[in-house]
Amino acid sequence: MHIPERILMGPGPSTVPSRILRAMASPTLGHLDPRYIEIMDSVCVKLRKVFETENALTFPVSATGMAGMECVVTNLMEPGDEAIVCVNGVFGSRMVDVMERAGVTVHRLDAPWGETFSLEILADAIERHPKAKALGIVHAETSTGAHQPLEGLAELLHEAGMLLIVDAVTSLAGHPLKVDDLGIDAVYSGTQKCLSCPPGLSPVSFSPRAVEVTEARKTKVQSWYFDVSMLKDYYKGSGKRAYHHTAPVNMIYALHEALTIVLEEGLEARQARHARLHRRLRAGLESMGIQYVPARSLHTLNCIHIPEGADDAAVRAKLLDEYSIEIGAGLGPFAGKAWRIGLMGHSATQANVDLVLAALVDCLE
Ligand SMILES: *Cc1c(COP(=O)(O)O)cnc(C)c1O
Repeated sequence: MHIPERILMGPGPSTVPSRILRAMASPTLGHLDPRYIEIMDSVCVKLRKVFETENALTFPVSATGMAGMECVVTNLMEPGDEAIVCVNGVFGSRMVDVMERAGVTVHRLDAPWGETFSLEILADAIERHPKAKALGIVHAETSTGAHQPLEGLAELLHEAGMLLIVDAVTSLAGHPLKVDDLGIDAVYSGTQKCLSCPPGLSPVSFSPRAVEVTEARKTKVQSWYFDVSMLKDYYKGSGKRAYHHTAPVNMIYALHEALTIVLEEGLEARQARHARLHRRLRAGLESMGIQYVPARSLHTLNCIHIPEGADDAAVRAKLLDEYSIEIGAGLGPFAGKAWRIGLMGHSATQANVDLVLAALVDCLE
């Protein structure tokens, strides 16, 4: 099996540091081995630091980011509940689908792709749907590169007796995301974006208010695998840990190493690095006459208009073949119209920014 080394500058996965790959190659332990339990507990402690939360129920779901979405939705919502879901790209519309499959009546709040939701628009939706139990919103919409501000939203929701659900798959460890300060009730992320770990786990966190909601359910969670009432006995049980499913042991080693790297760099320093490299990339692209799609761009995902006359697939193929650089294609209405350049985790380096700019100049000629 020959696997080339790529420079991963797409929408995820990002390039994985060799320290993490080496950690994954450590001996597999039993998932109830006391030494493994220590490592897993340490992962949960580090996750709380990275999410900037005291939430006791903070753990990695054993599957990718979409599983975090399903876990949050299926645990908080019951059939017949109502929810407001904000849709300005692919991941908002997936949340609508996941909610509807869980029997939820969804009040969909749409914004044009690439735009974000103002607090006034959100306040109006909350007022119009007083029976909603929760509002779901994407912090970092990877399909459009739009960065949704969250300040002030939880206050409005909590006053109305609603929960705030946030998709932070592409923002965790790349953008500031102070879960407790922002009043977020349930948040999920993924390992392969700004944590620069291979894909396979979805860190989630539930506030005490969200935990109360799960404990007051009238119906069983329809997903056996993601039911936190059982999972919490394994992840945060004191002393005795009940078998639920066999933990992906070597992936947990990887996440432990990834979180250690994040905390060694420091959250603020890491976020500042993402901001600085986004500015460098942006200045380079704009000097080539290339425009950004969203008005409020993420640092971690740069969604740009494909320049007039450029062949979308041919440019991406040349970047991959001749430079070993992967960038992302446009999704949905942006297919063939936009490129998505990720600057996530270990991929966010000055050398990569300068290389992708030079490579694009070459490929566009
Ligand atoms: C990548 C992503 C997901 C889904 O994660 P998977 O790991 O592909 O399951 C969900 N939401 C957003 C915003 C993402 O970028």
